[in-house]
Amino acid sequence: MTQAATDVLGLAREQVLERGEGLTQDQVLQVLQLPDDKLEELLALAHEVRMRWCGPEVEVEGIISLKTGGCPEDCHFCSQSGLFASPVRSAWLDVPSLVEAAKQTAKSGATEFCIVAAVRGPDERLLAQVAAGIEAIRNEVDIQIACSLGMLTQEQVDRLSEMGVHRYNHNLETARSFFPNVVTTHTWEERWGTLEMVREAGMEVCCGGILGMGETLEQRAEFAANLAELNPHEVPLNFLNPRPGTPFGDLEVLPASEALKAVAAFRLAMPRTMLRFAGGREITLGDLGAKQGILGGINAVIVGNYLTTLGRPAESDLELLNDLQMPIKALNASI
Ligand code: SF4
Repeated sequence: MTQAATDVLGLAREQVLERGEGLTQDQVLQVLQLPDDKLEELLALAHEVRMRWCGPEVEVEGIISLKTGGCPEDCHFCSQSGLFASPVRSAWLDVPSLVEAAKQTAKSGATEFCIVAAVRGPDERLLAQVAAGIEAIRNEVDIQIACSLGMLTQEQVDRLSEMGVHRYNHNLETARSFFPNVVTTHTWEERWGTLEMVREAGMEVCCGGILGMGETLEQRAEFAANLAELNPHEVPLNFLNPRPGTPFGDLEVLPASEALKAVAAFRLAMPRTMLRFAGGREITLGDLGAKQGILGGINAVIVGNYLTTLGRPAESDLELLNDLQMPIKALNASI
């Protein structure tokens, strides 16, 4: 193992750091299988790759839930599904609250504000609310707007693009081969189809998933390869935070060393992609892990709270970036 470990890190240094070519699925698997005593070296390499191919900036984003809970889908990790006994009630946010949230997000230095709804896909009422919200935000706040509204039709893609949505989030969640263990009410291919339409319409593609849902290391490597093939602008990485009442409520939290190896491995698979720390990192990694992740391949964070669970306070992340001397990406740098 030690020989193989040294080999894959040496190879990654030459292939990814020097030439900017991401690791293949097999190579990602070797990285995920590295022993814990190689973790520090791995994180250091992933950090070098990120600095070389992405630079020191960190993109900061805020998210807001426009429609919470009551979703008809059965994603087994999700407390917003209406099919499980999870304690998230269905609720809608009005336009003034949306504008207020965008203002607060912009104040924290974030350049990106993502409007999220717990739905299979948007209906007319939701799209009308999104359109009204975007217009109201545009009039008062200088921030880029992203949306995450589930699966889309071509007509809905076109409408969002016309509204000026510049990035669309839709997660593949996990490897293609593991997806049927996670969701049974729609397919991985349906999700992929939405992502292709989003890209063709000229919006930036944001697509990631959740690690620690019972997938094998082979499937984790497969997922990294799936994402590398999609080549999204941004990959949000979540770690399962088992929610009571969901089918995955009793799963163990991913050990910190495994989570950090995955962060580094995904960076080595996608040297130029924006890799964002999203939900679940607090319980998986704790405070120290935030720093290790940001020095191990991550270059984007979500500030404030997530959709159904509390995150760290915005200030603590922003202080951390300041301590690490990593500038927050400015709005004019991302347009
Ligand atoms: S992940 Fe999205 S689509 Fe799946 S149950 Fe939750 S809100 Fe619905």
